[in-house]
Amino acid sequence: MEKQRRIFIQQAGIVVAATALAPNVVWATTKPRKEKLGVALVGLGYYSTDLLAPALQLTKNCELKGIVTGSPEKIPVWKEKYGIDDKNIYNYENFDRIANNDDIDVIYVVLPPSMHAEYTVRAAKAGKHVWCEKPMAPSVADCEAMIKACKDNKVKLAIGYRCQHDPNIQAYMKVGKERPFGKVKMITSAAGYFDGRTNHWKQNKKLGGGAMGDMGVYALQGARLATGEEPISVLAQSFTTRPAIYHEVEETMMFQLEFPSGARAACHTSFGIQMNYLQVNYEKGWLKMEPHSSYGGNKGSMSNGTLINFPIASQQAKQMDEDATAIFNDQPMLVPGEEGLRDIRVVEAIYKSAANNCVVKL
Ligand code: NAD
Repeated sequence: MEKQRRIFIQQAGIVVAATALAPNVVWATTKPRKEKLGVALVGLGYYSTDLLAPALQLTKNCELKGIVTGSPEKIPVWKEKYGIDDKNIYNYENFDRIANNDDIDVIYVVLPPSMHAEYTVRAAKAGKHVWCEKPMAPSVADCEAMIKACKDNKVKLAIGYRCQHDPNIQAYMKVGKERPFGKVKMITSAAGYFDGRTNHWKQNKKLGGGAMGDMGVYALQGARLATGEEPISVLAQSFTTRPAIYHEVEETMMFQLEFPSGARAACHTSFGIQMNYLQVNYEKGWLKMEPHSSYGGNKGSMSNGTLINFPIASQQAKQMDEDATAIFNDQPMLVPGEEGLRDIRVVEAIYKSAANNCVVKL
């Protein structure tokens, strides 16, 4: 993509130009590279408002330059708080015009999951890099379309799995790779909270709601990242204690995973129960994380006395800075679309298993 090429060239501090007057002369001149990537947030709900916009102020490589919203009443608030230029404000209808806006390099999709695919594809077609929140999308087909659109348009795609940028999570991933305690035998992981809302997209099937996609992916990631393997079969069961609210989607999902090495995982997720931990039992030891998937303060310990407790000022700022660096350097994203897809493959199998009350092979 021309845009991407321009960023790389600017980064090298070299602009090669030829003039009509001297068609055979090509020379190099210096031009300041773009110091920061301009980010536009799409969807100004809780996560954009409370976490991402404040975190963008802490980044070194990014700048909050644009917003895309269907709520005009939010515009003056965001303009005043973050100094957003009028020309960088879009709604869902005129969003595609962002293609012509050089202030915006990255579009961060922070909408209900059912809208992730559409806005990722539109952003990619506009020639912008895409950061998309988890869960990547409700279906494998959506995820594949998102990956393809970004490939076709030569832009990068990252999924907002902030935890993978957290050194505390990276610490247990390393144990899974280096195996100081031998093979993983059993994982227990859980991610849930009590959601008291009664009419939110998280309770709406069409919008991509359900505990599994929202919080369950943290429990699933715990098992996948601790083993470094992909599950080969799943067995799942869902239930609700509030059928008046959770009649379209599950309030709670319990799922078991089997991995190629023989490791097994028992995972739970819920919109009715506060849970946030990971326990890994190896052949010769154990590792525990609690909390495991919080915005901050994730920490743990191992059976040999090693503690996991690295300070991290802002997961989201680190995530966006690292993703911006990868874009500047044309390197792979730490959490690319393919990683989001790996989870959704398992999530689809979990739903199939719960619906049919059977083991589903992957
Ligand atoms: P939210 O409900 O607070 O915000 C959603 C936004 O989408 C709102 O601004 C809303 O106006 C807009 N929207 C546009 N069309 C809509 C429609 N048809 N129905 C409902 N809303 C619509 O949700 P949120 O908690 O900010 O979550 C947004 C995304 O961010 C989700 O994918 C969620 O999983 C993700 N998220 C990630 C984290 C994380 O830790 N990585 C944390 C919270 C949320």
